Amino acid sequence: MVRYHSTRGRSAPVAFDVAVLSGFAADGGLFVPQPLPRLSIQRLEEWKSLSYLDLAREVMRGYIDPAIVPDRDLEELLERSFSCFEYQDPPLVLTAEHKNHWIMELFRGPTLSFKDVAMGFLVNLMDYFLARTDERLSLILATTGDTGPAAAYATAGKSRLTCWPLYPAGMISEEQVVQMTAIGATNVHPVEVHGCPNGGDDIDLVVARLFGDDSLKRRLKLSSVNSINIGRVLMQVVHYFYGYFRTAERVGDTVVYSIPAGAIGNLCGGELARAMGLPIEFICATNKNSTLHRLFSEGWFAKKQLQPSVATAIDIVIPYNFWRFLYLRCGAKAGMVTRITDEFERNGSVHIDGQLQQLLREGIVSISVPDQLILDTMRSTFAETGYLLDPHGAVAVAGVESSAHQFPGQTRFVSLATAHPAKFPEVIRLALSGELPGSALHPSIEKAKRAASYGLHFSLEELEQRLVEEIGNSLKG
Ligand SMILES: *Cc1c(COP(=O)(O)O)cnc(C)c1O
Repeated sequence: MVRYHSTRGRSAPVAFDVAVLSGFAADGGLFVPQPLPRLSIQRLEEWKSLSYLDLAREVMRGYIDPAIVPDRDLEELLERSFSCFEYQDPPLVLTAEHKNHWIMELFRGPTLSFKDVAMGFLVNLMDYFLARTDERLSLILATTGDTGPAAAYATAGKSRLTCWPLYPAGMISEEQVVQMTAIGATNVHPVEVHGCPNGGDDIDLVVARLFGDDSLKRRLKLSSVNSINIGRVLMQVVHYFYGYFRTAERVGDTVVYSIPAGAIGNLCGGELARAMGLPIEFICATNKNSTLHRLFSEGWFAKKQLQPSVATAIDIVIPYNFWRFLYLRCGAKAGMVTRITDEFERNGSVHIDGQLQQLLREGIVSISVPDQLILDTMRSTFAETGYLLDPHGAVAVAGVESSAHQFPGQTRFVSLATAHPAKFPEVIRLALSGELPGSALHPSIEKAKRAASYGLHFSLEELEQRLVEEIGNSLKG
C-alpha cells in the first residue's frame, strides 16, 4: 500500500491520515506518496468516460488505504465536498479562434478559485479524522488571496477546527478580502498583515517558524491546509485526468497543460498524474516573478525580491512545492533533495546541472509572462471570442500562445483557468480600458461586499506573538 515519505528522508514513512493531519513531515520535509499507483493504457480506456466525481474516487482510492477511509466514507466525503460547486465536472471551453486550445474552468467552486477544488475535500477529511479521536486543530495559512477564502469557506462552522488565514495588506484584491472578512463564522479569523515587502513569502517565513517549534505546534494544535499538505496536491491530480479524457483525440495521445504556476501544488498534481502514466506535458507559466522559469531554463533555483504583478495569486518567489517536484523527478532520492534544499537554505540559491537538470526539464516548457502580455491576452481574448479571462487564466493562455510553435502541429492544449474574473475587477478595467463586462461580476462577491466584516490586523513584527496569544485563547474557549 502507498505510504507517505518525507522528501528529506529522515523520518519514517507514515499513513495517509497522519500525513494529512500533520502537514509537514517530522523532519521538516514534505510528504510524497510512494510507490505511486501505475495505470495501464487499458485502465485509462476504462476511465475515459467517467464523471469528475467518479474519477476523483478512482484516483483517490489509489492513494488512500481503505482501512483508513472505507469506500462508502470516501464517496460520501467527495460528494459533500463538491456539492457546493456550480458545476462538478469542470467546464472545458473551446474558444473558436484557437482550435486545439481549451480553457478548463477550475473556478466553479464556492469561492471562485481553483483552491476550492481541493480545499473542501481536505478540510472535510481532516474533520472526519479528528472526529474519531475528538480532537481539534488550528489551521494557519499564508495566502496570496485565494487559499484564504477557500479555507475560510471550507472550515466555517466546523467545531473541531479554527482557521487563521493571513494575508499581506494591500497585496490581494478587495474582493478576496471581503470573501474572508464577510464569512461570519466564529471559528474563522482572517488576519491582515501589514509591512510585508515580500508579500505572502514574508508571512510564510513566520508560519514556518511557528511550525518549526514542536512544543508550540503541539500546544496550539497547529496544522496547515496550504499546498504543503499532500491532501491538497492529491486532489489536484484529478482534473488532469478529467481534462485529458475530454480533449485527447485518442487515449495515448499527448495533451499539453498550461499552468499558471505559484507554489506549484498544481504542477505537482499534474506531475503525479504523469508519473501514474497519463500522457501529458506542461507549460509552466509564471508572472514576472520568474523563479521557475530560471529553474527550468537555466537550472538556477534562486530567491529574488518579489515584484508585485497583476496576477497577484502567483506573486511568489519561493515555490515551496519544488522540493516535492524534485523528489518525484529524481526518483525519490531523499539524500539528493536534502543536499539541494540545504544548499538553497544556506545561500538563497542553488544550481542544478547535468542529468538532474535534464530530468527536471523533461516534458516541460517554461515561460515568464510580463504584466503587459497578461493584460494584452485578456484584451485580445475578450475582443476575439467574448471570453473574459482572469489574470491567472491569462498567464496560462499566454503560455500556450507564446510556445505552441515548440510543439508538433496537431498538439492539443489545455489552459488551466484558476480564478473567476469577478475576483479581479481592477485588473479587468486595466486590461479593457476601463470597461467592466457583466461577466466580471458574481453575485456571491456582491453579497459579501454588503455583509458585516470581521478581521484582525497585525504588523509583520508582532504577527508571531499575537497569533500565539489569539490561538491560545481560542483553544481555551
Ligand atoms: C494558487 C493559485 C495559482 C497557483 O497555484 P499553485 O498550486 O500555487 O502553483 C494560480 N492561480 C490562482 C488564481 C491561484 O489562486
